[in-house]
Amino acid sequence: MSVRVRFAPSPTGYLHVGGLRTALYNFLFAKKHNGKLILRIEDTDRTRYVPNSVENLIKTLAWAGIEFDEGPHIGGPYAPYVQSERLEIYRKHAEMLVEKGWAYYAFDTAEELEQARQKSPHHEFKYDRHSMKNQFTFGNEKTRELISQGIPYVIRLKVPESQEIRFFDIIRGEIIVNSKDVDDQVLLKSDGYPTYHLANVVDDHLMNITHIIRGEEWLPSVPKHILLYNAFGWEVPKLAHLPLLLNKDKTKLSKRQGDVAVEDYIEKGYFRDAFVNFIALLGWNPSKDREIYSIEELIDKFELEKVNRAGAIFDVVKLDAINAKYLYSKPVSELAKEFRFWVERRGYLGLSDDYLQKVVALLRERVKKLPDIMDFAPYMFEKPVQYDLEFLKKHWNETTYENMKDILTILKQIEEFTSEKIHDTIVNYLNTKNLKLRNIIHSLRVAITGLSYGAGMFETMEVLGKEEVVERLENFLNNVVPKIQIEI
Ligand code: GLU
Repeated sequence: MSVRVRFAPSPTGYLHVGGLRTALYNFLFAKKHNGKLILRIEDTDRTRYVPNSVENLIKTLAWAGIEFDEGPHIGGPYAPYVQSERLEIYRKHAEMLVEKGWAYYAFDTAEELEQARQKSPHHEFKYDRHSMKNQFTFGNEKTRELISQGIPYVIRLKVPESQEIRFFDIIRGEIIVNSKDVDDQVLLKSDGYPTYHLANVVDDHLMNITHIIRGEEWLPSVPKHILLYNAFGWEVPKLAHLPLLLNKDKTKLSKRQGDVAVEDYIEKGYFRDAFVNFIALLGWNPSKDREIYSIEELIDKFELEKVNRAGAIFDVVKLDAINAKYLYSKPVSELAKEFRFWVERRGYLGLSDDYLQKVVALLRERVKKLPDIMDFAPYMFEKPVQYDLEFLKKHWNETTYENMKDILTILKQIEEFTSEKIHDTIVNYLNTKNLKLRNIIHSLRVAITGLSYGAGMFETMEVLGKEEVVERLENFLNNVVPKIQIEI
């Protein structure tokens, strides 16, 4: 049977980085096996529903390059792919289980359940079908009567008293659970919506899913699902539960320790291929001594059997290092196109492609992400408005002003304004004064950029261009120095 896998998010507002990892592993697995990837929206928990999150999910997944073969946005042979549009299917299946003796109607109110919960030792509540208000205590006739009177009910799974439930997980191996530890799970809620468990099992079967690849947090649900598959007489798809994502201190990845929404990382300007590369390595790495992989390589090398069991640390330092590697290796022309987006978003309009290419080429090795160039070197986009006076003080002496004036004059005379020419001209001048580059270069940097650090000063001047450099230096000497004279 050809591979069919699914990503089944709940629309709770944003795409969690763990969700992207799950979607990506499903995508890699489907592509590797020439299979199909299905997007199914699991929106049966109405209390968690956030409007517009489906559109946002699809958009964010598309950003990451994850394309689906079937889903709410493209349709497919098993449509609809949104669970809230499939309520009748779940009701029918819940009732089917009641008929087969695998499920039953229960009429307990929320208050009654709460009371029972309070009374249970150590608050380990397990629904007791022999003392609560359900088909077993009422009998069939009374149950039918209550239903026809419109009394609210749920349908619960009738979990066998004590039975071994065995299943095999591709990543975790064989797992055995005793059914005495499994609660009589609600399958159909009183509002007519199914619970996750019922809808998930029914859909995975009806949509012919061959492999279920999802996060470890769903592992405790599997015994209930196995009972459901058995009750329906269906084959259980192959299972693979991916390791948890952890903070650096090995606690479960949480918002409190950093961003968990993929959208936040897009906003920060990480490259999609670098981010996907990083996400792919959360719990799996095809080789020990490498961490840069193209999507084609990831597809080619992907093996569920090789996914780790231990939790994977979500380390932003590693993400930055991977992103930086992409930044150093992509063609400058491609980077400049992407850079334009960020630059214009900050309001720097009208810069030429050539200028952006030069800026990127000069500064990419100093930052981790493309938009960071603007924070690192704002002087490439606007004239300095502030000057690092503390730094200037350290390097300024009685002759600096005169030397700078001379340098301004000779800079004006350079015809070919290249870093080599600027360098040679300034060095020649300094030789005549018996000075070294270090006697002037720091002050020159502050005069032109306002800052004490940056890329090579001569290269920076070449990129800024003669006109701009002359204008900045003139302004510094004529307008800034007189004002700050007392301080330096
Ligand atoms: N709806 C579940 C979620 O939000 C899907 C779990 C599964 O893949 O079975 O992650």
